[in-house]
Amino acid sequence: MQKQALHIADGDYSTQVKIYSNDELGQLGRAFNTLSVRIERSQEESDSERRRLDSVLSHMSDGVLATDRHGNVSVVNQMALNFLNVKEEDVINKPIAEVLGLKDTSSQDLISSQKEIVVTIDPNTRDEMILHASFSLIKRVTGFVSGSVCVLHDVTEQQKNEDSQKQFVSNVSHELRTPLTSLQAYIEALNEGAWKDPNIAPKFLEVTQQETSRMIRMINDLLSLSRIDRGVSKMDLEFVNLNDFVNHILNRFDMIVKTDKNKDKKKKYTIKRELGNQALWVEIDTDKMMQVIDNIMNNAIKYSPNGGVITVRLTQNKNHVILSISDQGLGIPRKDLGKIFDRFYRVDKARSRAQGGTGLGLAIAKEIVEAHHGRIWADSSEGKGSTFYISLPYKPMTEEDDWDEV
Ligand code: ADP
Repeated sequence: MQKQALHIADGDYSTQVKIYSNDELGQLGRAFNTLSVRIERSQEESDSERRRLDSVLSHMSDGVLATDRHGNVSVVNQMALNFLNVKEEDVINKPIAEVLGLKDTSSQDLISSQKEIVVTIDPNTRDEMILHASFSLIKRVTGFVSGSVCVLHDVTEQQKNEDSQKQFVSNVSHELRTPLTSLQAYIEALNEGAWKDPNIAPKFLEVTQQETSRMIRMINDLLSLSRIDRGVSKMDLEFVNLNDFVNHILNRFDMIVKTDKNKDKKKKYTIKRELGNQALWVEIDTDKMMQVIDNIMNNAIKYSPNGGVITVRLTQNKNHVILSISDQGLGIPRKDLGKIFDRFYRVDKARSRAQGGTGLGLAIAKEIVEAHHGRIWADSSEGKGSTFYISLPYKPMTEEDDWDEV
């Protein structure tokens, strides 16, 4: 029985006490064997419980750190290691405040306050990551605190969305305040007597009209973006020959050149077509795609020098058709190339406003092109001109498709 007790103490439950009699010693031996079986079973249960917990912890999408009552880390799951970009040996037995990079707080205060905090991981050690950390104490039945658990939740995306939303609201307010302030100034001047001056009044009224229409354009652009953002802007797709479609849009611009020339005061420009003759069938929402091409053409005209040539090309490869629109304008600095598709981003704010721009045209174009599973980008050499590219998915028609039609 003594040997058996030592086996049990070592975690070996395989041996049993031999029972020779039914007397008190025999009964003690039997109770001993039952005890050994019970201990083995409860050991197995607690092992499987631990494995279950380990598996839950390692498959969680949140990071978990457990500490002892002094705030030193005793358990950490894989997600927490990924979030913090550290190895397990770097954090075990380390104060949790140090592990989370909180220099001004003691681990004890951190866990006892049970507060929820936001932790920003040093962007030098990994891509910026914002974590939401919540703490809770582990208490025994007696109320004695034996440690704490800290759960880390990745809120980077959420935080970025909130920040960009705040930025957007601030941009909209600013964008609307500028024309409103100028309207107010002109109306005040008119009110104070300028309306009587035949040299000033028409000019002032023209400015107020221009500013009002720019604000209306901006609100309409904002509503388009909001419809796209909310996913309520339905795509009305149809197969069109892009070649014909672009020709049709450019004919319209050619007409405008003619009428502009008649007025003789507007800028002159020429549109050069390099479209080829091949029919390129793509599935697009014609209204929306027309809006995109109109916007890029209008920009090309706006930023072209007098007498400038705007070249429109269509090329294709195995699975994409690429429409490019090049101008000979002042170009776009390299550092701004990636940003011009952001809402309200303009290289030269004052110039864009003066030309009636809303700073939203390219942002809308990007959303529309992406909704077609396409891509839009720009290239430019400063002082020489810019080229805007739109690439759309394209599947060359095969002979079989022709047969399908028949
Ligand atoms: P905007 O209403 O200001 O034209 P867009 O979204 O259409 O707004 O364009 C954003 C900015 O991109 C413009 O303000 C301008 O700085 C720049 N940009 C767009 N097209 C051209 C171009 N063809 N040449 C030079 N800069 C351009």
